[in-house]
Amino acid sequence: LVANVSHELKTPLTAIAGFAETALETTKEKETKKYLEIIINNSKRLINIINDLLLLSNIENNSQNIQFSEVDLSKLFNNIKKLFEKRLKEKNLKFILNLDENNKKIQADLYMMEQLFINLIDNAIKYTEKGEIRINTYMKDKNKILIEVSDTGIGIPQEHIPRIFERFYVVDKSRSRESGGTGLGLSIVKHIINIHKGEILVDSKIGTGTKFIIILPVKNN
Ligand code: ADP
Repeated sequence: LVANVSHELKTPLTAIAGFAETALETTKEKETKKYLEIIINNSKRLINIINDLLLLSNIENNSQNIQFSEVDLSKLFNNIKKLFEKRLKEKNLKFILNLDENNKKIQADLYMMEQLFINLIDNAIKYTEKGEIRINTYMKDKNKILIEVSDTGIGIPQEHIPRIFERFYVVDKSRSRESGGTGLGLSIVKHIINIHKGEILVDSKIGTGTKFIIILPVKNN
């Protein structure tokens, strides 16, 4: 149901956003421009929420039949980096990739791994104004890999950390809204990690940055 409803909602919303954009380009009225911008921003927010809901529902429905294959972490992160190149440049953020030489491949669902790290890196960029986004991987033992996604951003207040993986939970509503957040990203992340029988930990300090530590089995068995 969620998937169907989301899909049905997307078409009219895309039309609303599209026509409002056309109207914005054609009008000269200052006041009208202001209202149109509000319409556009809010329809875009709704589209973001619907996309995340679709993804979450997709993951929940398909958790039984995930497709394990060999995932090359170097390829994965280099492809994801390309998606964010423009935003990294705009914010003047460095992207550092430091993969354990001993193992760059894991068995996992490629699509889910992409969604997992796109969400974490998207957040890292969203909540960082200067410095770097860093990916480090280490072999924890021969069966488990540890993947860290760190940023030098605003950090998460300690009291909020236990709740950030809940659906629709956001620390700062206005900030999250402004940057197109939905509060669903980390619940998608958590779900993907659970499906892969992994773990996720958070280490964060206000004003210094945030580190998400992911532990995943290297092989599916
Ligand atoms: P959102 O769409 O609002 O980013 P998420 O579920 O992805 O929602 O994250 C939940 C909340 O956790 C965010 O609103 C934000 O306050 C906080 N958060 C997530 N990642 C980071 C990060 N790297 N740095 C600072 N805060 C973060």
